[in-house]
Amino acid sequence: MKIYIDGKFFSQENAKISVFDHGLLYGDGIFEGIRAYHGRVFKLKEHIDRLFCSAKAILLALPVSHAEIMRAVVTTCRRNRIRDGYIRLVVTRGVGGLGLNPNRCKRPSVIVIADKIQLYPQEFYERGLEIITVATVRNLHSALNPAIKSLNYLNNILAKIEANNGGCEEAIMLNAEGFVSECTGDNIFIVKGRQLLTPPLSAGALYGITRGVVIELAQELGISVAETNLTRYDLFNADECFLTGTGAELIPVVKIDGRVVGSGKPGRITKTFVAKYRKLTQTSGEPIYES
Ligand code: PMP
Repeated sequence: MKIYIDGKFFSQENAKISVFDHGLLYGDGIFEGIRAYHGRVFKLKEHIDRLFCSAKAILLALPVSHAEIMRAVVTTCRRNRIRDGYIRLVVTRGVGGLGLNPNRCKRPSVIVIADKIQLYPQEFYERGLEIITVATVRNLHSALNPAIKSLNYLNNILAKIEANNGGCEEAIMLNAEGFVSECTGDNIFIVKGRQLLTPPLSAGALYGITRGVVIELAQELGISVAETNLTRYDLFNADECFLTGTGAELIPVVKIDGRVVGSGKPGRITKTFVAKYRKLTQTSGEPIYES
């Protein structure tokens, strides 16, 4: 495997960053998780746009342009002969002193890793997931805004630990007001009648790229979408529920906190979105190889 670090490619053994990098010392940095399907990078521009928004929010001046980062992602896929895979793009604050001060870090580092993807087992897509609400509250947007895709993911990891302890793969996180935010690595949607409902970003959700695609697909399908505060009660009484994320794609949820959702099987509208999303991933994206 060849890993891109600051314009050069390194073998896996030699791909190293300094122990003084503030990405390691403080989680001071940002990242993106991106997918490649069928020799194309899916929604690459949208991911790089979000990376730039995260960078702006933490006052990190990216050392490369939007176009250069897009090229670095595509080139890393090509060097690793990826047709279908997962790309991790990381930008750290860079090497600094042991103190917090980010001004001591002279140059951010850009890292691109392109590898094969590990999805949830196929049976979860067919039967649906059981998830639980956990006690770890989502970070306040006035503290560390969950819209920033930062290297500091401990809030999510703590929730994931609780999900695992409860025998589940994913956790629903509530915000400090008790409204549903999202899951540890996925956004959440419910279907109620002919309407799709999902928490607004202000509830403490990431501006998910997959979430955005689902909202666009809903418009095409003539299904209305509302970004609105949801309580656990709303989830329990939904007709259908599914999660969205680059890694998971769209995954049906059939049980929440022991309550069966809808029929207890992946719902009809969920399946329609799954099919539409799959089709889109197979037919669009930034080409990795010249045809
Ligand atoms: N929420 C969180 C906390 C995430 O980490 C992710 C990405 N894994 C998502 C939602 C889904 O976002 P996207 O569709 O852009 O992958």
